[in-house]
Amino acid sequence: MPIDPSLPYDDNNIFARILRGEIPSRKVYEDEYAFAFHDINPQAPVHLLVIPKGRYVSWDDFSAKASDSEIAGFVRAVGEVARQAGLSEPGYRLLANMGGHGHQEVPHLHVHIFGGRQFRAMIPPA
Ligand code: 5GP
Repeated sequence: MPIDPSLPYDDNNIFARILRGEIPSRKVYEDEYAFAFHDINPQAPVHLLVIPKGRYVSWDDFSAKASDSEIAGFVRAVGEVARQAGLSEPGYRLLANMGGHGHQEVPHLHVHIFGGRQFRAMIPPA
């Protein structure tokens, strides 16, 4: 079920629990601003998730309320994770689902990094 992005941040959402180490994840990267790990249900040969360390529900929340340093740190982390995964040369796709129409399922901002194969249609037909 998609989340309601107007709800306040839920400290018990699954990614908050992964950040606190309460739930295991296959970590690939961590710095002051971001944490990255393999998606549990990969949709491509490489499917990574990058999340900010701050308590942000969604892209909407993050882009409106995060500090400039949090935003810069997070964006740089997404690029670094993709580089470290060897995806810069072949290319990759980024996705951030937001709210109901975006079909966001976890209420902590996350950017998907997909790679390892050729992608075609940008968005599947309705
Ligand atoms: P969304 O639809 O919100 O953009 O994507 C949520 C993603 O989180 C999905 O791709 C889903 O497979 C992934 N996911 C959900 N629960 C877990 C979990 O406990 N561990 C990991 N590694 N990924 C998860």
